[in-house]
Amino acid sequence: MSTERLKLFVANRWLESRTASWTPVYNPSTGEVQAETPNCLASEVEDAVEAAAKAFPAWADTPPPERAKFLFSFRDMLIKQRVKLASIISRENGKTIAEAVGSVARGIEIVEFACGIPTHLAGEAVCNLSSGMDFVTLRQPVGVCVGIFPFNFPAMVPLWMFPIAIACGNTVVLKANERCPLSCAYMMNLLVDAGLPPGVVNMVLGEKETVETLLRHPKVMAVSFVGSSRVGRIIYETAAANGKRVQALCQAKNHALVLPDCSLEQTARGIANAAFGCTGERCMALPVAVVHEAISKPFVEKIMEEAHKIKVGSAEDPGTVMGPLVTPELLERVRGYIDKGVSEGASLILDGRSCRVEGFPRGFYLGPTIFDHVTDEMVIGREEIFGPVLCIKRVKSFEEGIRVINQSPYGNGSAIFTGSGHYAREFVCRIQTGMVGVNVGIPVPLGFFSFTGWKESFFGDLHSHGRDGVIFYTRKKSISYRWFKPEEGAADKIGTWG
Ligand code: NAD
Repeated sequence: MSTERLKLFVANRWLESRTASWTPVYNPSTGEVQAETPNCLASEVEDAVEAAAKAFPAWADTPPPERAKFLFSFRDMLIKQRVKLASIISRENGKTIAEAVGSVARGIEIVEFACGIPTHLAGEAVCNLSSGMDFVTLRQPVGVCVGIFPFNFPAMVPLWMFPIAIACGNTVVLKANERCPLSCAYMMNLLVDAGLPPGVVNMVLGEKETVETLLRHPKVMAVSFVGSSRVGRIIYETAAANGKRVQALCQAKNHALVLPDCSLEQTARGIANAAFGCTGERCMALPVAVVHEAISKPFVEKIMEEAHKIKVGSAEDPGTVMGPLVTPELLERVRGYIDKGVSEGASLILDGRSCRVEGFPRGFYLGPTIFDHVTDEMVIGREEIFGPVLCIKRVKSFEEGIRVINQSPYGNGSAIFTGSGHYAREFVCRIQTGMVGVNVGIPVPLGFFSFTGWKESFFGDLHSHGRDGVIFYTRKKSISYRWFKPEEGAADKIGTWG
């Protein structure tokens, strides 16, 4: 069987890359290579930026309600095709169909937010602020915007970016994820079906070199990135050094604090879902439970019970609760962390390494894994593992729990499970993460709000989507108006110069 070779999408046309360098796209459930991603030539990337730059003046000049009409049609296309899109995501990423459908639904919310752009773009105005003078601040598009994103939400994360960027009047070049490019490519066809003018959204493919060409291109004005902190820092520094505005959403090590007065059943279920859902490949996963020792024994029993219920299998099997990891490299890396945890002396109370799925001997499977008695000094207690591995850290008090969480260099999300309003409020006020859940395991704000990581989990100023998204993708223009009373007969003179 011949392997599909991905094409670039430039000015609404699909183009073959002339590169000699290709990256495999697996079906993680079967282990087979289903497609290949080109590492585009620099000239191909430049052509995409030129197409976006060419489309920019007319698109920026299109009235916002007209741009919104296009987004309404795109939303309808996404809704109609969501199951098809979800099955592509499942096949390239290993999410279950239910998880993939959920991720598309989250992405559609952003499109719905973007449909309100005529309202979101409203500026500020004060009449007669100085005698006879009015002051107005407008929001105008910035130009060509770039989106670079990770493998773990290959359709939802680009939907965090381009709908708001184009709603604001910008044009876009997406650098689709090289390991999971198929769902993004599929969405390009939906854009065409929805009537998108050529050049407004383009898609290139590749890795480091492709990104570097984009970051240095003089016609690129803004860069949105989602991925690891190592790469995010490079993106932030390089793009900023080249005069572009940047938002870089990065990796995480989210902790949940479990207090003795929590609702045990719901807490264990919430943490199991947050730790093992999407096979742990979520920047808002909860891979660490910081458990008060007064409840640690029943908590461990309950979480083990929940983990045992998880059926691992092919992503496309409707009975599967947890699918495979995305690539053999990630599978090896996560297994390496489990080996490391054992050698560091943590108690491995559930070992997913022996997991096998009948009929899929070459899939990238790993079962739910739980370590107890993990400490902050251990590598598995500090680093992002990005797989279905839950670490339990035991603490003696609420204060110790706060200390453990706040010493992490990452600040994406955290959660507290308690029945106490007092401790919940203390936690919300003092915790050093940008997103906080109170009895909510995955405190991801819906698309109408912004996604607000802190510390090493975010580089930049304005966050992704919601109100911050509109501000990021526009620049302000302040106008001072003064009008003089026309002289007698002035209107007749216009013909001489107008
Ligand atoms: P990654 O950083 O390896 O890759 C992200 C993107 O950067 C890809 O498109 C890749 O092609 C590109 N890239 C890789 N190396 C590069 C380099 N040296 N220079 C320039 N570009 C480069 O991330 P990943 O493994 O695809 O995704 C997983 C990571 O993403 C996790 O760390 C996860 O926490 C993070 N993530 C964060 C959020 C968030 O909102 N904070 C959301 C989803 C995922």
